[in-house]
Amino acid sequence: MIFRFLILGLLAYLVLMLIYSSIRRKGRSTDPSQGESMVLDPHCKSYVPKNEAYPSHGHYFCSEECARAYGSEQV
Ligand SMILES: [Zn+2]
Repeated sequence: MIFRFLILGLLAYLVLMLIYSSIRRKGRSTDPSQGESMVLDPHCKSYVPKNEAYPSHGHYFCSEECARAYGSEQV
């Protein structure tokens, strides 16, 4: 009886782990190359995660202010 309960528990655990890993994989970016990559802010020369960066002028910036400042520099 106890043995059967243990096997059921193990199966439930494996199913939960499978569901959990598939959710985690779905939660990631659809493009794996864009996952956790860092981009250089050409204005203040700091690295920011691409998913948090502000794309502008063909570059990525750490903040909207940097994007605007860089844009005015170029003109
Ligand atoms: Zn910046």
